[in-house]
Amino acid sequence: MSNTATAIGMEEALKKLGLKEINNGTSTGSEHFGSGDTIASYSPVDGALIGKVTTTSPEDYKMVMDAATAAFKKWRSIPAPQRGEIVRQFGDKLRELKEPLGKLVSYEMGKSYQEGLGEVQEMIDICDFAVGLSRQLHGLTMHSERPGHRMYEQYHPLGVVGIISAFNFPVAVWAWNTALAWVCGDVCVWKPSEKTPLCGVACQNIIAEVLQKNHLPEGISCLINGDYKVGELMTNDKRIPLVSATGSIRMGKIVAQAVAARLGKSLLELGGNNAIIVTPDADIKMTVIGAVFGAVGTAGQRCTSTRRLIIHESIYDQVKNAVTDAYQQLRIGNPLDENNHVGPLIDVDAVKMYLNALEKAEKEGGKILVEGGVLEGLEYESGCYVKPAIVEAENSFKIVQEETFAPILYLLKYSGEVENAIEQQNGVVQGLSSAIMTNNLREAERFLSASGSDCGIANVNIGTSGAEIGGAFGGEKETGGGRESGSDAWKVYMRRQTNTINYTTELPLAQGIKFDL
Ligand code: NAD
Repeated sequence: MSNTATAIGMEEALKKLGLKEINNGTSTGSEHFGSGDTIASYSPVDGALIGKVTTTSPEDYKMVMDAATAAFKKWRSIPAPQRGEIVRQFGDKLRELKEPLGKLVSYEMGKSYQEGLGEVQEMIDICDFAVGLSRQLHGLTMHSERPGHRMYEQYHPLGVVGIISAFNFPVAVWAWNTALAWVCGDVCVWKPSEKTPLCGVACQNIIAEVLQKNHLPEGISCLINGDYKVGELMTNDKRIPLVSATGSIRMGKIVAQAVAARLGKSLLELGGNNAIIVTPDADIKMTVIGAVFGAVGTAGQRCTSTRRLIIHESIYDQVKNAVTDAYQQLRIGNPLDENNHVGPLIDVDAVKMYLNALEKAEKEGGKILVEGGVLEGLEYESGCYVKPAIVEAENSFKIVQEETFAPILYLLKYSGEVENAIEQQNGVVQGLSSAIMTNNLREAERFLSASGSDCGIANVNIGTSGAEIGGAFGGEKETGGGRESGSDAWKVYMRRQTNTINYTTELPLAQGIKFDL
């Protein structure tokens, strides 16, 4: 253990989560195995090795799928409210282990401890939501056009749901999917990011204990580990009717094509390029807090991070000065130290992409307002700490059109009506989150109207990041169109069946068609 890890009590946290130096990264529940290569997980906080995880070989994968398909046959016939009871127990276990799991999320991924705890809280919240949902998986009843007939629809479980998740929400995205899928009667196979494999093993240990205590079969919750090649085992597997994939647009395009080629369903949660529109009627103080948290929180590595500020020309200088001043107050450093605002990027490759983006922005004519750069010194020895940067730019710049997963904020200007800002905000290929800061009701409603924001999330007087689990979460266009979490997102984890029952002695045909024998 490194000095930093010892200082924050990592050893104790790993012990509580059942993690060892080398962990088997494949599991069907109680059984942990793994005959593939080993991934070493280094903390971006201090560069220290946290532990190793064995990956899933094709033979291991076969065992997982055998267990999952067998478990589905049992799990689907357990009444949904009883499945909800298991999710309730899982939520309780998460409450118990919130601190060590939050700490691991922070140490393995690099987000602040507060955000790590927040991620575990999201898991708890979705469990609570799913428990209630387990008594509400209802369809509609319709009036039949034929006399003596009853018509209704019902929802049945789909089968084995494959979950592929990204590094930046190493535990919550799995829970969003799996808690709903479980109450819906599905079983899940999860491949976490190869950058955060220990978070995956820790979560699997937690649910395995709950399943064993309830004498449930192996295979309801399965874990596989490895890079895209392990992910491809699932995307090409006909036994998986739904693949939920969270990650980059590049990955989503490959996954969507592989799943569509076998006519499976995919739920895609891909990249964003989120903007806040700041109108002349904006509350500047609120705008600054929302924009700065949105841009530098999780070191700009949220799918909902604020990447563009579209400011009306009449208040442009005022907002620019306020935001650049706020950046001078930012403290960068160990994310487990609550005095720091900004932690590290996930790895040195991410640092290269950040530097590359800043270079491109300048080449395209951008003006650096707050200088970026990599931090050096003992505290930053992982090489992953960078300075949040601000660049004055144009929406048409190629680099502004892309999602760079780092703390770079582009300032853009608009003139005239709010529609001109909306046009810029919508003028990118991604469509995840958007926001407007205004006290003008007319502007706010225009932003929310059918000709307003084209994103899956549109907020008024709130930044772009930090969604609640009660709403459906996801985005349009190249963000992939998927919806997870609250509202009626559960429907994607089930198949819909329309049932018509004839309780007469006649056999009338629909549309009055005559067919007499
Ligand atoms: P990534 O695309 O590199 O990897 C995501 C996951 O996909 C990993 O588990 C990876 O192993 C797997 N993968 C990659 N190629 C694959 C393939 N061909 N077949 C099967 N699996 C494959 O993304 P990342 O760097 O881990 O995460 C950052 C990205 O995720 C950003 O673009 C971010 O916006 C996005 N993200 C989106 C949401 C959302 O809800 N919309 C949430 C979190 C992250």
